Parts: sequence; structure tokens; C-alpha cells
Amino acid sequence: MRRTIRQEGLVDQGLLSRLRISVIGDQGGLRDSFMSMGEQLGASVLSEIVRSPDFTVYLGDEIVPECDCNYTRVILLDDGVRLTQDRKATTGEPSALQKGGFATIGAALAWQEILRVCRAILPVEIAKKYVTVNLRIDPTTLGEIHDIERDMILEAGDGSEIPFSVLKRDDGTGHKLIRARLEQDHELTDSLLNSLSFLRREMTEEGSLPSEIELRLPRAHGALSGSGIIAGVGGLGSWALDTLIKSFRDSSSSGEQTELSIIDPDLNIQIHNLNRQVLYKEEDLGMAKAEIAKHRLENSVDRITVTSYNEEIGTGSLQMLHDVVVHNGDSSEDISWAEDLDLLHGGSLLDEDFPEMCRASDFILCGVDNLRARAILCGISSEIGIPMINAGAQGFHGQFDLFTEGGSCMLCRYGLGVLSQSGPMSCQEDGEVPFGSIVTSTALFGAIEGLAMISILADGPSSLDEWPSQISWSGRKNTISVEYTPDFGMFARIFDASDDHSKHIREMVLGGLQEDSNEESVTSDMESS
Ligand SMILES: [Zn+2]
Repeated sequence: MRRTIRQEGLVDQGLLSRLRISVIGDQGGLRDSFMSMGEQLGASVLSEIVRSPDFTVYLGDEIVPECDCNYTRVILLDDGVRLTQDRKATTGEPSALQKGGFATIGAALAWQEILRVCRAILPVEIAKKYVTVNLRIDPTTLGEIHDIERDMILEAGDGSEIPFSVLKRDDGTGHKLIRARLEQDHELTDSLLNSLSFLRREMTEEGSLPSEIELRLPRAHGALSGSGIIAGVGGLGSWALDTLIKSFRDSSSSGEQTELSIIDPDLNIQIHNLNRQVLYKEEDLGMAKAEIAKHRLENSVDRITVTSYNEEIGTGSLQMLHDVVVHNGDSSEDISWAEDLDLLHGGSLLDEDFPEMCRASDFILCGVDNLRARAILCGISSEIGIPMINAGAQGFHGQFDLFTEGGSCMLCRYGLGVLSQSGPMSCQEDGEVPFGSIVTSTALFGAIEGLAMISILADGPSSLDEWPSQISWSGRKNTISVEYTPDFGMFARIFDASDDHSKHIREMVLGGLQEDSNEESVTSDMESS
């Protein structure tokens, strides 16, 4: 499988690899971030001197000559980052704590600008490409063989076996169809599928105007210390931790009095993770994400304390936390009910020290890939009264949310839809259909999450009061919009207890579960009678 497979439904990979891109100048690590992201995208070799480039990126104070070519400037400000064509715009001096995060954001926005202006973005997102092969056979010629699926194999030229199904033809011929699905990264289908393009008949000129983007966040001042939970270290979480590592490095902080708990159930780093999950390298393939993330942190930050859990946050975690922390119960009590819950809704951290871990944390940073787990985490953060840093990125869209005490919760902002399980889906006809995912969106939002975490570790949770409560990005236009009101939410009015978010999250999360388990017992009663 190719590294870039997850982004190939979003961008014209062939065009992207042929683009001639020039990058000139540097400021505060922008150049390194830009270069490594280019590698992850599978973009062509970049160099200082390129004659008639398709796009030129000028970093920092670099002077832009008069020309009519495609370009953008990326500059770091005292408190943010800016993409502009303004030749006179001046740079600032970001805090050492935030420099790395702003450089990642600048690089991500610049690459998105290149994709957009050079028309490497596909007009429609293609969730999956595959080839279906049909062999119509006359089964009477099989002789002794009656079980085709057991006794025959479909073999590719390289000797590999391709799974198939057998379908009847009711057209009087007695024929059967042998049907096989060949995936996109199969040797036999690669050149065919890559030569097909799904395009608009007429290209429009709209959308090619250069973007002017400015993202400013409150400046961080203090020294890094504190503790927190990082749930999910995939596309988003790994960029958040990369941002934190750079912050420790650039501010020469030791990591003393910093404790992080990393939770991720993924035991198998795969090749297609490497194009957007920054912490992982080729030698980590097949390893557990939480463990590798822990090693990266410990190797980069001298005295940091990191614990890793290869587990999933489930409904049981929320209920246990409520019983133990809110009612001051004893965690050694019988928790068999929680195990029952988890039979229905996946595993969870039922470790005895989970409530203690939550109570000791200053924040939860959420980088999990399904909405329901996010809602559960939002409930947990609400129960113990600590902020939750949340983001989601899919295709060319992304959103960052801060859920703080006194602000609105996830249900109030997004409604009950967030309680539905969502994640990569699978069906018989199409096989696994993963979400399209690209480094420009995961790096952008992972870095913003990382900067929010740095703000808490440097200046305490109250520093988030100055932060936006929501940042949204539309990659097709490359625009960012920011919301500052912390208690906004169009769904807030449907909850009676709109003043107590932890209560209505818990009721909705566990209430839905109650209905599920009732249905289950009814079904099993009927079966046994
Ligand atoms: Zn709420």
C-alpha cells in the first residue's frame, strides 16, 4: 500500500507530484515544516532556484519581486501566522513556546494554497476506487467439483489469491458469475485506476483568487508544567504532541512536573498512517501508537513523565467516573455493571486509577476519530470541571472546539447526532471505506490543539478564556472563521438542564445505552421462547 493512499480521493496525486514549487527564505522553523509536509504529501522536489515555477512560497521577510506568477507569503506574527500577497506586510517575533505550532499552521495553509491555486484538488471527493471483475462460467464443465468457493482459487499473475463470491444467473443458461473486487493499491488495477479522472465538463475560474488568512491566538508567557490526558494519537493527536515537543525544545524547558497520559487503542501503525501522522516513522510499523508516542516524548523532553494506555474510552469510563468522583464512592467497589456496559460498547479504561488520573488532570485533549467517544470525553471533562480541547478533520474540512466550564458542551453545539457511533465504515459491496484524510487538515488542527494545550501548561486553564471557542476551516476555499462566544450552541435550548452540561451529557450517553440494552434483552427473550 502506498503512503499517500488516504489522500488520493482528495487530490490529483499525479499532478501534485509534477508541480514545480519554489520556496524562498525562512522564519522560525517555517522552512523545515514546509519541506517535511511536502514530503508527506508526495510533492515534487523543491529547490531555491526554479525557472518559471508553478508556485512560489516566500517565508518571513523575504522580498517578493514584481511578477505575475502564483505566490504567497507566509509570515509569523507576535501572536500568530499570516498568509498574504501583501509585499509590505511585516513579520513579528512569536513566543518560543508557540513558534513551532505557528510554523506548522503556516506550512499547512501554504500547502493547501498550492493545492487550491494549482488545481490539484479533485472537484469531488472520491471515497473509494476499486475494480470489479466478473467471470461468467459454465458450472457443468467443472466435473467432480460442486463447491466452487472451496475447490477453486482465483489467482493473480504474481501467485497471490484473490477472494471471490459466486452469483447465480437466472437466465436459463445455468451459468454462474465469479465476482472479485480488486482494490486500488493492487498491482493489477493501479495503472487502470490512476489513469481515470472524474472531472467537471467545464472548469470554472472561481476559487483561484489568492487567499488572505490571519490566525491570531493569545500569546503564551509562562513555564510549561502540569498534567493532562491525550486521547487519540492519530492524525490530530500526533501533531498536537509534535507541537508540544517543539515548544519544550524552543523554550528550553526540562519537562519537570509535567505528566501526560496517552490513550489510544490502535496497536498497529500502518504505512498509510505515515503521510499525515507526524510522530511515526517507517521503523514503527506494526507497533502500538500510544507506546511509540510515549517514547518520542520521553526521548525529546528530558524529565517529562508519560504513561501510555492501549485502550479505548467507553461508556463505562464515564459512569465509573461519575460514581467515584462525583459521589465520592470507592473505586474498589463491585464494578461488574461497567463490564456489562462495555460488552455493548467496546472496551474502556476500567483500570482502578482512571478516576484518579482524571482528577489529577488539568485538561483532556481529544484526537479520537469517532464522535461518540468525543461526546463521552466531553462528559468526563465536564464531570470533573476541566477543559476539553477538541478537533475533527475530514477531507478538506476541519473544526476546533474548546469546551470549558461556563461554556457550552458538545451536545449543546452539535446536537444529539454526536452520540451516534461513527468511524470508518465497511460494507460487503465496497469493502472497507476509510475517510479521506490529508496532512494539511490534520496538521493544521493538531497544531491548534497543541497550542491550546501549551497555553494551559504555560499559563493555566484560565488562559483559555482569551481563546476562540471555535475555529473552522474550509480547505476548498482555504478560509478560516473564528467564534469567540464560549456558550454559543443552537441545541442548548432542547436540554432542560442547560446549566449542567455534565448531567445532560451523562443522561444522553447512558440513556441511549439503556434503550439499546432493553432492545437486546427483548430480542433474546423472543429467541429463547
Ligand atoms: Zn450542554
